[in-house]
Order: sequence, then structure tokens, then C-alpha cells
Amino acid sequence: MNNKTMNAAVLHAVGDLRYEQVAMPERKTGEVLMKVMACGVCGSDLPRVFEKGTYHFPTIPGHEFAGLIIESDKPELVGRRAAVFPLLPCRKCAACEVGEYVNCENYDYYGSRRDGGFAEYIAVDERNLILTPDSLSYACASMCEPGSVARAAIRRMDVQLGDTVVVFGAGPIGLIAAQWARVSGAGKVRVVDISDEKLAFAAKFGFEAYDEKRDGKADCALEGTGVSPALNNAILALKSHGRLVLMGNPARDMTINQSTYSQVLRKEIVMRGTWNSSYNQVINDWSATVEAMASGLVKYEELITHRYPISRTLEALEMMRDKKEFYTKVTIVNEN
Ligand SMILES: [Zn+2]
Ligand SMILES: [Zn+2]
Repeated sequence: MNNKTMNAAVLHAVGDLRYEQVAMPERKTGEVLMKVMACGVCGSDLPRVFEKGTYHFPTIPGHEFAGLIIESDKPELVGRRAAVFPLLPCRKCAACEVGEYVNCENYDYYGSRRDGGFAEYIAVDERNLILTPDSLSYACASMCEPGSVARAAIRRMDVQLGDTVVVFGAGPIGLIAAQWARVSGAGKVRVVDISDEKLAFAAKFGFEAYDEKRDGKADCALEGTGVSPALNNAILALKSHGRLVLMGNPARDMTINQSTYSQVLRKEIVMRGTWNSSYNQVINDWSATVEAMASGLVKYEELITHRYPISRTLEALEMMRDKKEFYTKVTIVNEN
């Protein structure tokens, strides 16, 4: 029997997130017990906690986490640090058979369909661990998920040497994507955002605001906002045969104006969607992300503007929801 407890931020109903004691997770064979050291708050956690809820209650949200492995069937894993791919594929469907786990028809997910990382401990499937070097901070490692999503988007953009790339949306994923575009050989990388504060923050990473008169039309654009005006502007910013990658999760219907639509045809724009990231033997945005973190090729930790202890998870989410302060990445950290 396991009578031990831990602290966690538990969602009991829409808007009802409580910091409380719960039973320690029990590790099954093939799982490790991880002490969660950092868990990022994703933009998607706001509607999940305040509007839509998780798949069932109570659930511990948080899917962007990294920590220390403290128990495992494999002794060599104990004491190692790891980030976690939060999706648990069924491993039976056609998508799983080819390793495209994010297209799985019947998946489970840490932090939405089952308990996640706004907790002191979590039991994690060994196959979902991405070991990270001890030199990498947990806060940085916890950005593997948004980092991999951004890396997958740029990989799908197929940037050519010297390309002008415009990223719409200068939030954390947009700024990681912009950095990946830069290291992929883009000549110019520019950002677009309606917030002057976000543009000022982007400038710290060397990204200027896109100015069509000065920069010319773009070879590639990333739509990272999920709102129609940005989609239309992204199409208009492109050259003939320009490539548009659609990444932003739409909050409502996305509409393309008639004249813009006609530009898609005339300019023979190539559009493709990107979803999550690849995590398999052939293409692994996660291991590439950890390498980029370790080598410093792409800056991640610098995107963290706020750190909160788990006891103040609700406060962190409310600060974001109400935009009380300017933030880019908000991370829940375990200070013990
Ligand atoms: Zn996320
Ligand atoms: Zn599957």
C-alpha cells in the first residue's frame, strides 16, 4: 500500500483549480517515477482550465514538464534528468505503425486526458522520456514541447538559403520558430505582432518587425496566431510560389477575404498545416530540440519571463488570463 501524498494543482471543474494533497502516483512496470522540476504553462492551458475543462475531473493539468527520474525498472535511468513527450500513442493504429504518433486515432495525453506536470511527482512511460544533459536547466528542458512544435513547423517550411521568412505571432513558439528559421539558413527573419511589448521582446532576440517596404515580399511565412487578419496578411506578404505554414490554433472560424484568396491562386501559394511534432526514430524534433538547447544554438530559457512555485499555479494562470503583466513564457518550478 502507498499512503504517501504529494502536492499538486488539481482541476476539479472548469475554473476550479485547487492546490492540494493527493496520493503519490504509482509507477507501473515500464514507467519511471519522476520528480517534476519545471512545468511550462501552455497557452492551451488557459481555455483548458477556465473554459473547456479536461476530459474528466479531477485531473492535474500541465504537459510541458521535465524532471529527475527517481525510480525505474532500469537502474541506469535513476538520477537522470529528462523531458517528457506528453502524448501516449495507442501503438496499434495506422499512424502509430509509421511512427506518426501525433496523428494517432486513440491517444492519451499527460496533462489533459490524464494527470500531468503541475505536481511534485508523476509516473511516466519510459518510451516518452527524452534524457537531457545535467548541464541543461530543468526550466530550459521543460520547453522541449513548445520547442519541438516550433522546430516541426520550420522543418515543414523547408527554408532555403537566403529566404526571407516572416513569423506571425511573437509569443514563445513564434520566437523559437523564428530562431529555427534563422539557423535553417534564412537570410532575413522578421516578426509580426499586434503587441508592441512582444515586438520589443522579440528585438532582444535580434528580430525586427516586418516592414514590407524595407524587407520586400517573403519567401516563407508562418501563421502562428490562429486569427484571420494574420492569415490574410501572411498570404499578402508572400512572393509568387511562397510557402505558408499554418500553425496557430484557431479560436474561431478562419476567413480569407476574396481578394486575398485570389492572391493564393495567382501567386500559387503553397500552404500546409503543421501539428505538434514528430517523435520517432527517423524524425525526432525532440532530440533535435535538446541538442539545440545544449549547444545554445537556439535560446529557450531567455523566453521565460515568470516563474511560480506549484502552490501559486492558479495565480500564474490568472495572471496570464487577465494579462496582468507582460509575459512570454510562464513556468511552474519546483524549488525544493
Ligand atoms: Zn503546450
Ligand atoms: Zn495510434
